[in-house]
Amino acid sequence: MKKNIAVIRGDGIGPEIVNQALLVLDKIADKFGHEFTYTDVDMGGCAIDKFGDPLPQSELDKCTASDSVLLGAVGGPKWNDVPGPMRPEKGLLRLRAGMGVYSNNRPAKIWPQLADASPLKPEIVEKGIDFIIVRELIGGIYFGKHETIEKDGQKVAIDELTYSEEEIRRIGRIGFETAQKRGKRLCSVEKSNVLDSSRLWKKVMHELAAEYPDVQLSDMLVDNCAMQIVKDPSQFDVVVTENMFGDILSDEASMITGSIGMIPSSSLGATSCGLYEPIHGSAPDIAGRDIANPIGTILSAAMMLRFSFNMAAEADCIENAVSRVLDAGYRTGDIFSPGCKKVGCTEMGKLILEQL
Ligand code: NAD
Repeated sequence: MKKNIAVIRGDGIGPEIVNQALLVLDKIADKFGHEFTYTDVDMGGCAIDKFGDPLPQSELDKCTASDSVLLGAVGGPKWNDVPGPMRPEKGLLRLRAGMGVYSNNRPAKIWPQLADASPLKPEIVEKGIDFIIVRELIGGIYFGKHETIEKDGQKVAIDELTYSEEEIRRIGRIGFETAQKRGKRLCSVEKSNVLDSSRLWKKVMHELAAEYPDVQLSDMLVDNCAMQIVKDPSQFDVVVTENMFGDILSDEASMITGSIGMIPSSSLGATSCGLYEPIHGSAPDIAGRDIANPIGTILSAAMMLRFSFNMAAEADCIENAVSRVLDAGYRTGDIFSPGCKKVGCTEMGKLILEQL
């Protein structure tokens, strides 16, 4: 298969970690007979330096013309004083909006080799943590009308929460399709005991369920879900939820797995062209020292293969290689524990390549 990937290295550790992910993709292409070509895109601080704009239209166009986008991270102290609309992070928001990616998918997976890093009790971690939160990204209360008015002599703040059936249906489909590619269990999370938007959410999810008979759908109230994630996360396969609930639950879910450097993410819209990036930032404190953990980015590349290119065997191959390197005791500084062998970014990439 031929695929063109837009590559945004970005700032800070971005170039170091993305370079390792590209070496992994090249090896996968060789092994499985694919052809991956790369289009370099400047976004963030480096684009401000080059163009005076964190994401010029020409760079965004390269992304929307690609089969998918791989991103390192953007931002850093050098651009802290840049005015609001020209900040590096604005490039990221413009990219998400320009690509129309309405679904953010973040896996919460504990690597057994790193179980000690989880703040949960060992007996909970031992049952396994391996689920994905599918979060609606461009609707709901964050995108409603926000206003503060004067009423009866005091200020009253109003944030509007709306969801249309179509907005729910399109994120619901991503939830069901993600579940189809995993353990075929989907948990729809809402607050239907209080909110109209949640009652509509639940109704639409159940209508959709008829189209996906191979997926087992369950419902859970968001407050219960927040408790279940720390009480027994092994019960979840795929969670689908609205924007604000997903924002909070996905941060909770990534915390229980231990290390920020290990976690990938994907954002998808109506087409298979997705945005894939680690959840961490540009880590300016360790940039340029070849000590960053490239695994979150390498696993983001694996997600791209699985969810945008339908290359499940190739994605498995990468994930298994990462697991074997961890089994052998190699760790970057962020996941290091006594008795392990400390390696840098390039060395970690090389070890994963050897296992592919
Ligand atoms: P950060 O995620 O960059 O770093 C937080 C801590 O985690 C730091 O100590 C860092 O060294 C460590 N860390 C992060 N990734 C690591 C990795 N792969 N390997 C080893 N250690 C790692 O968050 P921050 O310091 O709050 O933000 C730094 C910059 O990144 C800011 O400019 C921020 O706006 C930006 N940022 C960008 C994105 C993005 O591009 N998607 C996301 C978050 C923050």
